[in-house]
Amino acid sequence: MLIPVRCFSCGKVLAPLYPKFLELIRSGKTPKEAFEELGIDRYCCRRTIMSHVDLYMDVVPFGPIVNRPARLKKLVQRYFKDNK
Ligand SMILES: [Zn+2]
Repeated sequence: MLIPVRCFSCGKVLAPLYPKFLELIRSGKTPKEAFEELGIDRYCCRRTIMSHVDLYMDVVPFGPIVNRPARLKKLVQRYFKDNK
């Protein structure tokens, strides 16, 4: 679903780091290099990010946003722009 805001084990705030992590991975860095650059040292935090699966756009059609077509169109456009 959405990236957890905090690590389940230690409580470190991870959500703001996730987009930066994805950006580093897309730029060709290995996950280890990306974690080191972002300062994510503990294996519990690394586990939380590595095991995350983005299913947000899979559940959007079943949510209340379906009743707001303009907002849904914007979301879908942004999703496909970010995931090319
Ligand atoms: Zn942690």
